[in-house]
Amino acid sequence: MDCLKNIREEISSLNEELVALRRDFHMYPELGFQEQRTSEKIASYLKNLGFTVREKIAHTGVTGVLEGSGEGRCVLLRADMDALPLEEQNDSSYCSRNKGVMHACGHDAHMAMLLVAAKVLSRRREEIPGKIVFLFQPNEEVGGALKMIEEGALEDPKPDAAFAIHVWTPIESGKIAATAGPVMAALDTFEITIKGQGGHTGAPHTAIDPVLAAADLVTSVQMIQTREIDVLKPTLIMFGKINAGTANNIVPDEVKLGGTIRYLYRSGPDSPEKPLVRFERIVKNVCQAHQCDWDLEFSPENTTVINDEGVTALVRKAAGEVVGPEDLVDYIGTAGEDFSEFARILPSCFYFLGAGRTGDGLSYPHHHPRFDIDEDVLPTGVEMHIRTAFAFLKKHEVKISPR
Ligand SMILES: [Zn+2]
Ligand SMILES: [Zn+2]
Repeated sequence: MDCLKNIREEISSLNEELVALRRDFHMYPELGFQEQRTSEKIASYLKNLGFTVREKIAHTGVTGVLEGSGEGRCVLLRADMDALPLEEQNDSSYCSRNKGVMHACGHDAHMAMLLVAAKVLSRRREEIPGKIVFLFQPNEEVGGALKMIEEGALEDPKPDAAFAIHVWTPIESGKIAATAGPVMAALDTFEITIKGQGGHTGAPHTAIDPVLAAADLVTSVQMIQTREIDVLKPTLIMFGKINAGTANNIVPDEVKLGGTIRYLYRSGPDSPEKPLVRFERIVKNVCQAHQCDWDLEFSPENTTVINDEGVTALVRKAAGEVVGPEDLVDYIGTAGEDFSEFARILPSCFYFLGAGRTGDGLSYPHHHPRFDIDEDVLPTGVEMHIRTAFAFLKKHEVKISPR
């Protein structure tokens, strides 16, 4: 592609701006749906590039549309904007100035990479055979994507495919992981109250013991993962909270439990796995066996991120050009990611840019108060955005599978 001939040199000439943008976002992190300053900065940057800009979608979301010269396809590139309620423990010159709030997931890098990609692409308007939507989404950590879609972020223009990059410290710096199929797990949380009847631990037969029922439940639901659902369809059931009781010699009235169910497949009414239906059946039957009453509430957080084979092949091809085939790896995670909402509607690829460096304190996990990324990978992310957008807009390079 001729128009991408000197792309690396051009991105490298913007490196100072790229790092400055990332550090500015890092210094002034904002929580989900409150990304006011972040949102204004993005909108004014995109307006300066001459894009059609929409603001305040889902409170603080922004889209900028670059209209190329042709009537071709439309591609969406997405970055998330929110930080986490965490006190930063780094002492870098650019550490968080907002007390108790921190970009500890790398979303600062996502915004900077996408803005610089927008700038480089805006200089190639004539060679772009379609449209590019640059979408900046609030509140990824608590599912802001759906609200943005509900408020029309995917209308006018309507994208034909979507791409997103996540910088990822568990992957070695400079590697790219793009995998077709499920790559990030669905997440549902649950709250259970098991209601028994309190009494004296010296005469338990006169009480109804919800503690024994809870213990039974915690182990019984684990049968779902291997005895009921194919082990090659990963399902992860974890209890994070168990609370009951006031004294050692009192049988409590009730036990409260809370936890998460994560799974790496699409679970719809027509799919055979149905982990929540199975979970509810076991809760009901275990509680009945123990003569207890129960309450069970599920809160869905994310569906599974499932990457489309065709557009993922295109990302893998671009990664081969950008980092070389030896640094193209596979990665599947069990964290949640609300890009799943875009991937449900559009053929999509959510891929990882390795940003972890061993030995110099840059490899803390995401959501850790000492999290940081290797900034040397930022230009790679910019180049990936540009190459995947171009490749997708050149129709013959990828087939879109029907949805
Ligand atoms: Zn996160
Ligand atoms: Zn994240």
